[in-house]
Amino acid sequence: MKKLYLFANWKMYLDASESEKLARAFGKISSPRGSEVVVFPSAIAVSAVAPILKKNKLSIGAQNIHWADHGGFTGEISAAMYKDFGCTHALAGHSERRHLFHESDHDVRLKLEAILDQKMTPALCVGETLEERKAGKVEEVLERQLHSAYANLLFPKGIDLIVAYEPVWAIGTGESCDPKEAERVVELIGNSVKKLTGQTPVGLYGGSVSAENIRHYVDQPNIQGVLVGGASADKESWSALIEKLS
Ligand code: PEP
Repeated sequence: MKKLYLFANWKMYLDASESEKLARAFGKISSPRGSEVVVFPSAIAVSAVAPILKKNKLSIGAQNIHWADHGGFTGEISAAMYKDFGCTHALAGHSERRHLFHESDHDVRLKLEAILDQKMTPALCVGETLEERKAGKVEEVLERQLHSAYANLLFPKGIDLIVAYEPVWAIGTGESCDPKEAERVVELIGNSVKKLTGQTPVGLYGGSVSAENIRHYVDQPNIQGVLVGGASADKESWSALIEKLS
C-alpha cells in the first residue's frame, strides 16, 4: 500500500474558533496507517490549531506566504513567520492565488524558494483553465508552470517534492476531473518534473474531491494523494472521505 498524502485546505471558510473545533475533530478521525495529513487553516487560526494538530500527529501548513522573510509588506506573512508557529508545509501557486490575486509564475517561483529556504515542504499547485483545456493547451500550460517553478532550482534531498494537479475548472465547482485523465496528467507532470529536477515528485490531485470519488483518484498508480478544499472544512464530510480509504 502506497503512502497517502491527504491535504486539507480550509481556505477562508472558518474563523479561529471554528478551526480549533474542527482541528479537535480531525484529531479523533484516524487516517490510514502511514498516511500524511496536512491541514492548511487560515492564517489567523494557525496559532490555535497548531498545538492541537501536533498532539494528534497531524501536520500544519500555510495556505500562502510572502517570499521576503520580513519587511514593509502590509498584510503579508512570511514563510519564516509560519514556521515559527509550527508550519512544516506551505502551498504555492494555488489557482485561487493565481487567478483571483493575479500571482504570476514568477511570484510562485519566489514563494517556492522562500518556503525551501525555511526548510519547509512546498506543495506546488498547477492546472489549466477550462478555456485552456478546450483550446488543447493543457500540456503547454503545465509545462510553463512547471518550468517556471523548477528550472535550475536545486531542490533539496530529504524534502518531498509535491505537485498537485488542480484543474482550475474543477476547484470548488463540484465538477471533478475524470480520474483516468487526472492520472494521465499527473504522470505527465511527473515526467516533466523528473527532467527539470532529477527527482520524482509526489503527485496529488485536487478539484472537487469528495467521499464519492476519492477512491477513484487514490487508486490510480501515479496519484499519491489528494488536496481537498470544501470537503475538508467540515467534520462529517472529512470523516466520510477518510472512511473510504480504510
Ligand atoms: C482546493 O482548494 O485546492 C480545492 C481542490 O478545492 P475543492 O476541493 O473545494 O474543489
